[in-house]
Amino acid sequence: MSSLVQTHSRSLGSLPTVGPIAYGLWRFTDDDVATGRALIETALDAGMNLIDTADVYGFDWGGTGFGQVEEILGRVLAATPGLRDRIVLATKGGIAPPTPYDSSPKYLRAACEASLTRLQTDVIDLFQIHRPDMFTHPADVAITLHALRVEGKIREVGVSNHTPAQVAALQAHLEFPIITNQPEFSAVQLAPLRDGTLDQCMEERITPLAWSPLGGGRLATGDDVAPDLVALLDSLAQREGVDRSHIAIAFVLAHPSAPIAIVGSQNVDRVRSSTAALGVTLDRADVYAIVQASEGVPLP
Ligand code: NAP
Repeated sequence: MSSLVQTHSRSLGSLPTVGPIAYGLWRFTDDDVATGRALIETALDAGMNLIDTADVYGFDWGGTGFGQVEEILGRVLAATPGLRDRIVLATKGGIAPPTPYDSSPKYLRAACEASLTRLQTDVIDLFQIHRPDMFTHPADVAITLHALRVEGKIREVGVSNHTPAQVAALQAHLEFPIITNQPEFSAVQLAPLRDGTLDQCMEERITPLAWSPLGGGRLATGDDVAPDLVALLDSLAQREGVDRSHIAIAFVLAHPSAPIAIVGSQNVDRVRSSTAALGVTLDRADVYAIVQASEGVPLP
């Protein structure tokens, strides 16, 4: 049976190639450097060399914690010689609680420079606009990104949670390509299949970074997931000799846009075993069965 699951490394512009599974630090709030180091080294050893964070990670929406995850990561990097060089470091700016979004030139530059300081690094490999600021003209966003790149503070640019039209509007003002878009995409979040996000990625050679490939854990626990979908994933897992969560990751990797799945477990064994997804075979009938079980209706 030929597999749709794309296990090759992904090319991201001028950056070193990255594995098809990335490691995300949204839930990385343990203040202990040794714990953080163990998680990151586990991910790197498993080939997950794109590490995704954001300046807002750690913020508790009660008003504190902004920058906390970057700050912990910065301490891990500073304490571990050679670690920074093994990582393709992705972060995001542009969420400015409680505004909530700000990509104005002054704010975005300050956010990027603050990320560099917290991360204790000279350059961010992939700087992403976390969410679109609908009240900043994309030309102004582009001018800021261009300047940060010329100054050597960022290497490549991506976006997150942008509609295809928002990506196109920013790209129209940028002299270099947007190389990633980061949508939520999983067996319980299929919108990017039909809203143009993944089509645009293929059209423009943008790599999708799929956030919450396990639906934030729901696909692992089965909570709040259609029972037919859980049963199908379980039967595929049994056939493939893996866990249900590995089938869910493999489903994300099976789209022809060659997404990168960003897993977010804080458990070293689960981080390590995520790569079992790369051994999974899913054919066209399997992925369409997942879509139909997720939506609860047959495709026409
Ligand atoms: P996820 O991999 O879908 O979910 C991770 C969660 O699933 C963790 O709480 C984990 O718990 C749980 N889990 C995994 N396997 C499990 C199992 N076998 N049994 C029970 N629970 C299990 O991803 P995510 O953390 O939601 O998001 C991943 C990354 O995507 C984030 O770190 C961030 O980089 C990115 N993200 C981006 C945006 C954006 O707006 N751009 C938004 C959200 C996330 P344990 O820790 O206990 O394993």
